[in-house]
Amino acid sequence: NSSLHELDPDVAAAVDAELHRQQSTLEMIASENFAPVAVMEAQGSVLTNKYAEGYPGRRYYGGCEHVDVVEQIAIDRIKALFGAEHANVQPHSGAQANAAAMFALLNPGDTILGLNLAHGGHLTHGMKINFSGKLYNVVAYHVDEKTNLVDMEEVERLAKEHRPKLIVAGWSAYPRQLDFAAFRRIADEVGAYLMVDMAHFAGLVAAGLHPSPVPHAHVVTTTTHKTLGGPRGGVILSTAELAKKINSAVFPGQQGGPLEHVIAAKAVSFKVAASEEFKERQQRTLEGAKLLAERLMQADVTEVGVSVLSGGTDVHLVLVDLRNSQLDGQQAEDRLHEVGITVNRNAIPNDPRPPMVTSGLRIGTPALATRGFQAEDFREVADIIAEALKPSYDAESLRGRVSALAAKHPLYPSL
Ligand code: PLP
Repeated sequence: NSSLHELDPDVAAAVDAELHRQQSTLEMIASENFAPVAVMEAQGSVLTNKYAEGYPGRRYYGGCEHVDVVEQIAIDRIKALFGAEHANVQPHSGAQANAAAMFALLNPGDTILGLNLAHGGHLTHGMKINFSGKLYNVVAYHVDEKTNLVDMEEVERLAKEHRPKLIVAGWSAYPRQLDFAAFRRIADEVGAYLMVDMAHFAGLVAAGLHPSPVPHAHVVTTTTHKTLGGPRGGVILSTAELAKKINSAVFPGQQGGPLEHVIAAKAVSFKVAASEEFKERQQRTLEGAKLLAERLMQADVTEVGVSVLSGGTDVHLVLVDLRNSQLDGQQAEDRLHEVGITVNRNAIPNDPRPPMVTSGLRIGTPALATRGFQAEDFREVADIIAEALKPSYDAESLRGRVSALAAKHPLYPSL
């Protein structure tokens, strides 16, 4: 019954240091967020001890009466949140949600059509050495070279030419909204399933600030830890017709025992996501991203070769184009790290630099919005980033401004 600090001071010290890092720096990785303390409490609960293979009411283990309650709450809440006919809350991660959804709909060797990784797609949408690229015959669509928007004419042309069994819409690095109705029309024309991976923008959808893919797609997958703000994990939503196939693809198809402690944490986060406070937070997330894009398109920034892909954003992230900057993606990431802002470098479409270096940055606002940042704070962050990307930057003064913002919005004060 020892505490973590007593039993394992080495791990405890690293956890404490990570808490301090999160509290004292500004987190702007677009796929990250801060889970509420109650979510972490559920995740750190005794539910971690329980085996519960199967589904509520139909388990392969005894003693599941309480985890059944928890899992059913999670299912009911997320169905209501997104208006879905069916939900499976067991996938351990977004990648596993996608693997299970594909396992449910496809056979090895079938053709899938997904967004190219370097154009903003995810590994699980058909990258060569990912399971999706190894198991399936992958055809990739792209963004248009001039507009940087998904080229729907290409999607339609490739769909008609290759007749995929599954079309995947969704992205990890794309600053605009997709036309789900157009994707569905194309899928119907060629007899394909449409799967939308809304991992990045699920929180915006839940808040009603982004079109919902649910009415258009056969299957919608998501992570629960990005804009949705919950514990790390995945979820699959589908039509009632596909419910059985989806459930058996998750268990026993892909996974063994579900992580009921994580499912409890998911349930708590779905309750939060249905609240007015959550909607207001998503509004600030969008506003922050817009303010950042606007600042990075001002003359003093474009003059040093920095610009914003697609000329703005409709979502929670901005893609910074460094092709004409002296800084490459790695150097820009390091520069922001030096002043206390965490982002990730990101390949941009037709990137001339190698994937480990890149010519882009992906900068997101969900975590800072969760921390309570208002428009004036996002303006200040945007200005700090703009200054940090210039050749003559004053690291010490920028670090001071970052610290002041972190102090203004304390994170996890009770921890
Ligand atoms: N789908 C999309 C669109 C993502 O961006 C990600 C993660 O970055 C995933 C799936 C995978 O999620 P996870 O890291 O939980 O496996």
